[in-house]
Amino acid sequence: MSDFEGLRALVTGGASGIGRSTAELLAARGARVAVLDLDPSSVAEPLLGFKADVSDDASVREAVAAAVAWLGGLDILVNNAGIGAQGTVEDNDDAEWHRVLDVNVVGMVRAARAALPHLRRSEHAAIVNTCSIAATAGLPQRALYSATKGAVHSLTLAMAADHVREGIRVNCVNPGTADTPWIGRLLDRAPDPAAERAALEARQPTGRLVSADEVAGAIAYLASPLSGATTGTSLAVDGGMHGL
Ligand code: NAD
Repeated sequence: MSDFEGLRALVTGGASGIGRSTAELLAARGARVAVLDLDPSSVAEPLLGFKADVSDDASVREAVAAAVAWLGGLDILVNNAGIGAQGTVEDNDDAEWHRVLDVNVVGMVRAARAALPHLRRSEHAAIVNTCSIAATAGLPQRALYSATKGAVHSLTLAMAADHVREGIRVNCVNPGTADTPWIGRLLDRAPDPAAERAALEARQPTGRLVSADEVAGAIAYLASPLSGATTGTSLAVDGGMHGL
């Protein structure tokens, strides 16, 4: 099945984890796909990588323009680039708050700002933001990260309202703990990474982590014309974690 035949997509943070799985899935389903990433060196055909830092407006504008030129237009923006932060409000100083908010929230605004003029020309325009269960779950030791994802959730609702009459849908996915290089790096910092992974898996209702491909599947649904009447929603991909 080729749900994305003729559609053109840009995935931020598409060189790793959820973004990589999403870029590969959209391409496998028929889309032409560009990746925007801090380090796109591992991105291979049929994808094309464009180097940019979402915390730098000029680099985002340049990369989006170059990607859109290569794609021949733009139908789908997957706003996925993001970084983590641990601790309570006493653990991160102002500089760290500004740095993480700048990547996780303003980074999505920058990419959307650069993409919107192109999306307005599409017949099937969609933006999907990668949010998190952290937006609403009240997770311990994640004050800063949760605040950024809460902002992404609100941003998604506001953008959906602003752009619905232009034919541009805006939704978000809320992954639970997804098995990506990011989580691998976190586990590697533990004294016993294997035991830490087992404990993390045991805390999941399904007994396992969410896979990056499962998050990609939800993003693909929200990006595809199959969800053409859906805007301003968040789709949980958390193995039943949220609300328990
Ligand atoms: P990852 O670290 O595997 O991949 C993130 C990608 O984003 C990397 O390729 C990285 O180079 C890129 N990136 C980071 N900062 C960037 C910047 N300033 N400019 C451009 N690119 C940048 O992480 P992942 O787990 O795939 O996470 C992707 C998204 O999913 C993030 O927004 C994250 O908050 C969200 N998320 C992840 C999980 C999880 O458990 N893995 C859960 C919920 C939400």
